[in-house]
Amino acid sequence: MEVILSEKEKQYLLSTIRDIKGFPKPGIIFKDITTLLNDAKAFNFLMEHLEQRYKSYNLDFVAGIDSRGFIFGAALADRLKIGFVPVRKKGKLPSTTICEKYELEYGFDEVEIHIDAFCSIKNPRVLLIDDLLATGGTAKAASTIIKKTNANLVEMCFLIHLKEFGGLKKVQKNAPVYNILEV
Ligand code: AMP
Repeated sequence: MEVILSEKEKQYLLSTIRDIKGFPKPGIIFKDITTLLNDAKAFNFLMEHLEQRYKSYNLDFVAGIDSRGFIFGAALADRLKIGFVPVRKKGKLPSTTICEKYELEYGFDEVEIHIDAFCSIKNPRVLLIDDLLATGGTAKAASTIIKKTNANLVEMCFLIHLKEFGGLKKVQKNAPVYNILEV
């Protein structure tokens, strides 16, 4: 049976996330997850949920998106006793990488991973995780490079899905999606 949260549990987690209006620019409501992270009970509740959901997925790696995806991704990988792979913004990884460009409101950005990140396991099963799905540009690019390595992208997980930006359609083409909270 699929492990998901009840409405009450979702409301509880949502109540620990803070809205900051006008950050980083006017018109944006920034979902600040630092208040969830510094609430020991809420952070533990979230990580317990992720462990319960993913312990039966036979995953080999958790890949986390720069930078808040690193926090949940690394904590989950440790709980599942598997490896963690950072998907980084361009120019941060020291060895040979695969990269993918994606469009921002104004201009482009790029994410990359080490080309040998999943090499220790044959046909690796990978979960991709980030804190938030908005337009889907970042997650689409991240999932595309994971698939380029021939890894098996089993699922993408987002703590918060901001439905109004329509990103779900874009990323669902690459793998199934689990959104913990819908806003
Ligand atoms: P997008 O590529 O539009 O789906 O944006 C997702 C990425 O941008 C994630 O890595 C988020 O951390 C960040 N992000 C976008 N919008 C917000 C927001 N309103 N609040 C917090 N983070 C956001």
